[in-house]
Amino acid sequence: MIKSVYIHIPFCDDICSYCDFCKVYYNSKIVDNYLEVLKKEIDKYYNGEVVNTIYIGGGTPSALNSSQLEKLFHILKKIKCNYDEYTIECNIESITLDKLILFKKYGINRISIGIQTLNDKLLKFLNRKHNKNEVFEKIKMVKKYFRNINIDLMYAIPNQTIDDLKQDLEYILSLDVSHISTYSLILEKHTKLYNERIRYIDEDLDFAMYNLINKKLHHYNHYEISNFAKKGYESKHNLTYWNNQEYYGFGLGASGYINNIRYDNTRNLTKYLKGYFRKEEHLVTFNEKVENTFILGFRKISGISIIQFNRQYHFDLLNLDIIKKLILENNLIVENNYIKIKPDKLYIENDILWQFLDIDYKSLMLNCKKK
Ligand code: SF4
Repeated sequence: MIKSVYIHIPFCDDICSYCDFCKVYYNSKIVDNYLEVLKKEIDKYYNGEVVNTIYIGGGTPSALNSSQLEKLFHILKKIKCNYDEYTIECNIESITLDKLILFKKYGINRISIGIQTLNDKLLKFLNRKHNKNEVFEKIKMVKKYFRNINIDLMYAIPNQTIDDLKQDLEYILSLDVSHISTYSLILEKHTKLYNERIRYIDEDLDFAMYNLINKKLHHYNHYEISNFAKKGYESKHNLTYWNNQEYYGFGLGASGYINNIRYDNTRNLTKYLKGYFRKEEHLVTFNEKVENTFILGFRKISGISIIQFNRQYHFDLLNLDIIKKLILENNLIVENNYIKIKPDKLYIENDILWQFLDIDYKSLMLNCKKK
């Protein structure tokens, strides 16, 4: 069953020094064309299903002017949605009162804001254009209209000290938002920081920062490896991904998972504007489905429901050798019919998850049943 729709708006006023996302500089004329083509893409592929969530991400959707945003919301009215969650991503500097009123008018009920840090020196390094004072001003403004607000916090930024992070966390706690997403800085190829040969921070410092975040945000529900929410504000849209459920992705560089087909749209804007949408699509095999159930599902702190897994795959999860091995090694634990990564091993989650790759689950399950 299709649960969600993701819409990619790839336009940004400035390009951040670490950014590897699918984005281009904002250009009003190109945005107008883009919205026309986005409508065509939705008309072509959307089959009228009722979905629970819509997420408008980017790029910087809030970089669009009010009339472009209004046009976008009209296009999205075509999607039948019960609006369990309707999110738009914003940058601090492009949030205005007019836009907030517009968001409210069109049913947006969650605002996700890229803050990264409130340290003005580090913001400059990241080429973000806001400053600490603006963050306080704008969040105050957003809170007058929206209760469900996410903030993106970045850590492990070169030259960031543990005290800098502590200060960021204190500021963020004082903002009292409903959801916080945390990311350690990744130096992706083809970014400004990568080209300048900037180095990662020391591993021990990275680990200390990770622990500090978990400690400081302990009043929030740590429900996914990088995500913290007040009770009831866990992101319904992102849970679609972690539960390995199906969703549409529309827009430049978007990905989707529909009718057992995973697809990636082109990241080439010229091609996209000519109506060439999908770059790659493939049928999801049984093995890939099981693999994704593990790799995405173990991102959730609660882990994977054993009952649900057994019902879906007609196989006892606890009979899989890889599961037995990871339990024996003290990396996984079973609790209340859920299997999850042990809390003290979450930091090495990637080392655990890669072990679920390239396993012939189909043969294993068949052989096991024969025995
Ligand atoms: S605002 Fe977001 S998408 Fe745009 S350049 Fe910065 S990180 Fe990338």
